[in-house]
Amino acid sequence: MLSDDAAAPAGAETVAAAAPLTAAGVSHTDAQQGTTDAGEALRARIMQQAENQHDQADDAMRSAAEEAAVKKAAEEAAAQQRQAERKADAEAAAKKKKEREAREAKALAERRAKLAKSYALPTSSYTITSHFGVAGSMWSSGHHTGLDFAAPTGTPLKAVHTGTVKEAGWAGAYGYRTVLELSDGTEVWYCHQSSMNVSAGQKVSTGDVIGRVGATGNVTGPHLHMEVHTAGGSTVDPLAWLQSKGLNP
Ligand SMILES: [Zn+2]
Repeated sequence: MLSDDAAAPAGAETVAAAAPLTAAGVSHTDAQQGTTDAGEALRARIMQQAENQHDQADDAMRSAAEEAAVKKAAEEAAAQQRQAERKADAEAAAKKKKEREAREAKALAERRAKLAKSYALPTSSYTITSHFGVAGSMWSSGHHTGLDFAAPTGTPLKAVHTGTVKEAGWAGAYGYRTVLELSDGTEVWYCHQSSMNVSAGQKVSTGDVIGRVGATGNVTGPHLHMEVHTAGGSTVDPLAWLQSKGLNP
């Protein structure tokens, strides 16, 4: 504080110094002068105080506005950050999903390729002429219990998988039939053969020629009637079964 400068902010000391403590021993002029000086100082002080208060109010308003602006900016930045994080998370999840799907597709293709190597179609150069489950009076059960591969008489028949010949012989309406039993108990029937290359008890491997396409038994033309029986004894769709082994008849 510059106490001897009237224009400077006036403290209590300044006022006290400028105003005489008592009027005793002070001339009229001096008193008048002192009163005038004291009044001037008081006025200046009040004005200064008002100005200060005004400035303080301004400062308070300014700092409140600044604080609000800073707070708002911080909130916006945080919101943007959260949004960016959510986006990054979603992108990472999508990438992970894509990678997993690619891995699964690859694994499936590999499994199919491996299965296809160990399983083989029962014949070649064929046309599928009748599917499993088709209704018809020509079948004793009222519906077709196998899958028909029409092919010229003499076309080789192959073991669809490694197994043991359970039966090989005449089977009435089925004509000459070979029953191949796989290690899991599944039976694959090859019917209407013109000739058989294997006998009961014989072990065969995938792709081995076990007989020939023919027209023996209850038929209208040469074809392989293939059946698949589960270990439990039920008849299943040979097409779906072959497909489950990675083959596409
Ligand atoms: Zn058939």
